Amino acid sequence: MTAMTKAPATPAALRVTGLSKSYGSHTVLRDITIDVRAGETLCLIGPSGSGKSTLLKCLNLLETPDSGEIWLGETCLTAARADVDAARARIGMVFQHFNLFPHLSVERNVTLALTSVKGMGREQARQSALRRLAEVGLAAFADRRPAQLSGGQQQRVAIARALAMEPEVMLFDEATSALDPELVKDVLAVMRDLASAGMTMAVVTHEMGFAREAADRVAFMCDGRLAEIDTPDRIFERADHARLRQFLSQVL
Ligand code: ADP
Ligand code: MG
Repeated sequence: MTAMTKAPATPAALRVTGLSKSYGSHTVLRDITIDVRAGETLCLIGPSGSGKSTLLKCLNLLETPDSGEIWLGETCLTAARADVDAARARIGMVFQHFNLFPHLSVERNVTLALTSVKGMGREQARQSALRRLAEVGLAAFADRRPAQLSGGQQQRVAIARALAMEPEVMLFDEATSALDPELVKDVLAVMRDLASAGMTMAVVTHEMGFAREAADRVAFMCDGRLAEIDTPDRIFERADHARLRQFLSQVL
């Protein structure tokens, strides 16, 4: 039996069926069906322009698919009456650019959504933020401003900020691509810890080492299609898909 036909051990936390998306006449996502299982780390790889970011944005409802369905657990996010804000609060997203508020302390960047969106009290939010900052190794930086931190530290603040909302799923879109090479590993270490702790994650990355080691499955996107999805071992060691082999030969 191959990995593709084996029944999933755990239910899907996030399920996408028949998702398509065009910008004008340019079709960017073509009939994507994919799931992220509870506790799974799914890495999305593929050439620039293949639709990886658009797919993540659809998952987080930052973009509206033209057709197809997205399910988060038992909730259909693409239903006409879906509560978009409530759904978004269940999904954490980390982008290439961390978008911290420069005039706020690190701690306040993490607590802002807790107090304003979740209505949490200031002290409880602070305690929660300090716990999350400790998890990403930044407990001592709570009272600094973002500009006093390295890019890698700022990205870890952005991860702490997303985690503080206690999301069911975390989405990462090239979280390390804007960082100087020496700062990448600390961010990847935090992501690896999260994966080991059983967080459900969809990770768009060009870090093939990370995908190989941390992913449960790797999805290869090409021309808006999900071209391959399999274990890292099969993707990296035994790829027979021509475009995947070509892609890997360029990035490895
Ligand atoms: P990737 O993240 O894999 O590099 P993207 O999802 O960013 O790919 O983009 C896929 C395609 O969609 C690209 O051709 C890109 O130019 C196009 N695209 C992305 N966002 C928009 C937009 N807002 N308007 C028009 N075209 C877009
Ligand atoms: Mg992208």
